[in-house]
Amino acid sequence: MLYRTTPTFQSGPRLKRRGKEKAPHKGGALGISYHTYINMSSNAQKTGREEEETHKKVEEERPDTFLDHTLRPASWDEYIGQENIKNNIHILISAARERAAPPEHILFYGPPGLGKTTLAHIIAREQGAQLRTTSGPAIERVGDLAALLSNLGGGDILFIDEIHRLGRAIEEVLYPAMESGVLNIIIGKGPSARTLELPLPPFTLIAATTRIADLSSPLRSRFSGGVFRLEFYSEDDIAKIVERSAKILGVKVDKSGVREIAKRSRATPRTANYLLKRARDYAQLKRTPLTGESVKVALGMLEVDELGLTPLDRKLLEVLIERFNGGPTGVNALAAALAEEPATISEVHEPFLLQLGLIERTPRGRVATRLAYEHLGKEPPSDVTQKLL
Ligand code: ADP
Repeated sequence: MLYRTTPTFQSGPRLKRRGKEKAPHKGGALGISYHTYINMSSNAQKTGREEEETHKKVEEERPDTFLDHTLRPASWDEYIGQENIKNNIHILISAARERAAPPEHILFYGPPGLGKTTLAHIIAREQGAQLRTTSGPAIERVGDLAALLSNLGGGDILFIDEIHRLGRAIEEVLYPAMESGVLNIIIGKGPSARTLELPLPPFTLIAATTRIADLSSPLRSRFSGGVFRLEFYSEDDIAKIVERSAKILGVKVDKSGVREIAKRSRATPRTANYLLKRARDYAQLKRTPLTGESVKVALGMLEVDELGLTPLDRKLLEVLIERFNGGPTGVNALAAALAEEPATISEVHEPFLLQLGLIERTPRGRVATRLAYEHLGKEPPSDVTQKLL
């Protein structure tokens, strides 16, 4: 392999920040550590056939704890909905394949449980590529990212979940890797420091985030393959997902049961699968078939209401209405009143409440809508619509 060394004083304004950076902790010749953070997919080092066989074997032996994994669609046919994304990705990877090049870097964003990770898995599978997965918080040091990148093989796919949590210094190592396929490593400190430029094999970065706004614009702009927003699912699509999952789990559930689960699933596949499993547990213990009626009782016990709201969603609306007089109020104040993390409110609860039109975001903060009052059985105040303006 070719290395080019350049003294760091040539790298201009970046020097200062880099100079301050902590030295990578102990590891290989380049001071790079091979960290346990790097969570390679179980198929990472296998050929296609081996992978297929292992997959089957694991499917057969998989205990209940792995059911989440079992329910993950493995192909485009099984991946329901998100048609626009599927079409775009299809074009992207087909065209790349014709050019015998890996697809360009892709970013998926949207609330948790909508299928971002699943897309990365399907793309890797379709490409016959090895998928290496990690997440923003797991990459603590520049050396962690350098270890990941320098271990990539040609055509590999690197999946970074929660990419908005990457540190700025780490982002700076990622830019040249994404753009020019090189890894710049600083060796040493002070005037004797050198930048080692290590060419990387062609690879595709697929990243996911629940907080696109927290991504710096230089990072966002480097996803040359596209930035895709995952949408909430229609009730019909969720019903299809529930039917598929029920088949895989060997659970019998009638049409009305499927509808009841779909209605309460927050338009989110992960939640739909969770509700299906909880309803199955209830029906199993009560020796009752899974119908609309039994699903209603089971999910009622979980305090999931007919809109799919959880106790915390309802509490949020209640606090917004009672304590903050319907808003507008900021997410931090709401989170403090609910004793929750602001991120939980803004990433998990708010998007769905916004989707249902129960709250609205205004420049001055969150406001409860007329629907929110009605859902909680309260009389909306006369100025409820003015607050939205
Ligand atoms: P995210 O990465 O967006 O948090 P995941 O990709 O982990 O979400 O999806 C969570 C689960 O939801 C998956 O394991 C899978 O079972 C299910 N799922 C997600 N998207 C779909 C889909 N389009 N069709 C069928 N099941 C899906």
